[in-house]
Amino acid sequence: MRVPVLHGTRDMRVEDASKPEAGPGEVLLQVGLCGICGSDLHLYDSDMAPSGIVMGHEYGGTIVDIGAGVEGWAKGQHVVASMLEPCNNCWFCRRGESDLCYQHRRIEAQRSGTATGAASLGAGGYGPFVRVMASRLIAVPEALDEQQAACVEPAAVGFHAVHKSGLQVGDNVVVLGAGPIGLFTLQCAAIAGASRIVVIEPSPRRAALAKQLGASAVIDPTGVNLNEAVQAELGGLPEVVFDAAGVSATLQQAVDLVKPGGHVMMVGVAFDSVPIQPSTWVTKRVTVRAAFAYSRRDYVKTMALMEQGRLLVAPLVSSIVGVDELPATFDRLLTPGTDIKVLVDPHR
Ligand SMILES: [Zn+2]
Ligand SMILES: [Zn+2]
Repeated sequence: MRVPVLHGTRDMRVEDASKPEAGPGEVLLQVGLCGICGSDLHLYDSDMAPSGIVMGHEYGGTIVDIGAGVEGWAKGQHVVASMLEPCNNCWFCRRGESDLCYQHRRIEAQRSGTATGAASLGAGGYGPFVRVMASRLIAVPEALDEQQAACVEPAAVGFHAVHKSGLQVGDNVVVLGAGPIGLFTLQCAAIAGASRIVVIEPSPRRAALAKQLGASAVIDPTGVNLNEAVQAELGGLPEVVFDAAGVSATLQQAVDLVKPGGHVMMVGVAFDSVPIQPSTWVTKRVTVRAAFAYSRRDYVKTMALMEQGRLLVAPLVSSIVGVDELPATFDRLLTPGTDIKVLVDPHR
């Protein structure tokens, strides 16, 4: 089989590899489609990734082989694999908050053989077959197609962020950024009962998609006074601001934009340090929260909403590329363009 192997910064090569076999406790999945995540692009563009990994953690697949000791799964079943491997035993896991599991970083580190566990980001979904610990599997409803299965992971990020945000039915909402995570957050906020949702996004294509997916208005922040523009749309500041821009610079902006006493939810992962103005945080009595990833519950509920046709995936998929196109696609995606969600077909 042909797999795209990351060797170093901006160095991805498509190479021949033998088909893996399921080890003890594992299943072998035939990958359907796999999404390209912003975090994959970050790994590609940094020196964080250990050499030799195959990335891709946003995938659905079909079980084609079952390793020793695995019970409860059968060949032919459609599944997704949570990127995090919770212990299912700690205080958080027992409360259903497996996103906060004490152990999963340690499990990742053991599995990957690195101190940081960063190799787990090389989750392998860009290859046609991937070995997965059975404890990470979640069954996919039969009604979901391959595009939906591949997008369960990023959609669950948006679902989780809304679930944890403090959003109440009837609240006005602002979403900063209409990339895939922003667009899934927007849809989940609408499902959760938001009144009006204003999206801040400069790209015309993403803006149009945000409108299609339920935004009351989209504001291009270029050269406008954002507070005034948002207040003009909503008749005041919003109760909840989701920061899904994926850059550090918007954090203070999110606090500036929210109503006094409101909630700011940080959804994107950003790495740069930025100055903040603590006095605005204090005098506005804002609650600033951060969400990362999801629990198994979030996966199951996200898939249910997809199955009901309330959480849409197809409009976000801007292209599907084959394995040989991946290095060039990654280079292209490093420069912001018109892409929304790019999926990889590892059998092409
Ligand atoms: Zn992802
Ligand atoms: Zn745990």
